[in-house]
Amino acid sequence: MRAAVFEAPGRPLVVADVDAPQPEPTDLLVKVKSCGICGTDLHLSAVTDRSGGMAPLSRGAIMGHEFCGEVVEVGCHAPGDWHEGDRICALPYIACGRCLDCLAGRGHRCQSVQFGGMGKLGGAYADYVRVGGAEALALPNGVDYRRGALVEPLAVGLHAVRAANLRPGDAALIVGGGPIGLAVALWCRFFGARHVVVSDLLSGRLGKAAAMGATNGIDASKENVIGRYKQIAGRRPDVVFDCVGVPGSQQLAMDYAPLNGRLIVAGVCMRPDNVMPVKAITKELSVRYVYMYERRDFELTLEMLDTGRIDGSAMITDVVGFEAFSAAFEGLKTPSDQCKILLEPEHP
Ligand SMILES: [Zn+2]
Ligand SMILES: [Zn+2]
Repeated sequence: MRAAVFEAPGRPLVVADVDAPQPEPTDLLVKVKSCGICGTDLHLSAVTDRSGGMAPLSRGAIMGHEFCGEVVEVGCHAPGDWHEGDRICALPYIACGRCLDCLAGRGHRCQSVQFGGMGKLGGAYADYVRVGGAEALALPNGVDYRRGALVEPLAVGLHAVRAANLRPGDAALIVGGGPIGLAVALWCRFFGARHVVVSDLLSGRLGKAAAMGATNGIDASKENVIGRYKQIAGRRPDVVFDCVGVPGSQQLAMDYAPLNGRLIVAGVCMRPDNVMPVKAITKELSVRYVYMYERRDFELTLEMLDTGRIDGSAMITDVVGFEAFSAAFEGLKTPSDQCKILLEPEHP
């Protein structure tokens, strides 16, 4: 099969002919229909040591964890009622399926979890991918393959917004209009926030934010963010989301928050960061870090996509086949108006 293979840190991925994955008896073999490029993969492909908390990839690794596809083989002991031809997406890991974390839908905390696209378990920048029967979720008829590839990033946003305990009419500020920020904007609007304001240094991202549900955008390269926010909402935001995840972004979010405000840290910063805790202390901020999602986040996302209550496709800025994939991946390393690029192996 074809796959975009990792060679060495910082080097472009190489599309090569490799062996298809061998599913275990509890697995499904899935023909990949669509797979999004994630910022985590961009970061992972540059990791050279463990200092940032992530292990470097080994040569030959295949990334890609935001995918959906069609079942082509069902393991003889695969849990669930799966059949060839079923359309699915999946939690991007294979876990034991029996421990308390697995049963609670938090298989990423399982002692025996293997993350797809991070190490030995290959990801979906490939024609075929291995999926655990317990980790697969059916794509309802109303969810096409493009939206199916958005379930994972939308679930990241849902999990972050769930942690914010939004109340109807709340004012939210989302710092960073990349894929996570846009997914957070979508769910803030869905759950009844009145002001859903996205700030970004790249003004080109603000239009997409509006299409995802943001009520306003702030061009942080030109405008004073909190000054403009107060003009829009008449007050500081009740909830601030850090969806940037670079050194300094948490401090900014603390500065923007009001007394007793809520701060959700959803951007994944993998470098040391300096913050001035007294800012958060004197405001008595509630700071909450969030990571990944739970199975229920996938389930609600799928149901809301199926019924048309959310869409999310505004975050897709390009769709490529294998031929253009490596260049598209490299291009995302420079911040631009590109947001979510999907790999579709059957793309002409
Ligand atoms: Zn992702
Ligand atoms: Zn487990």
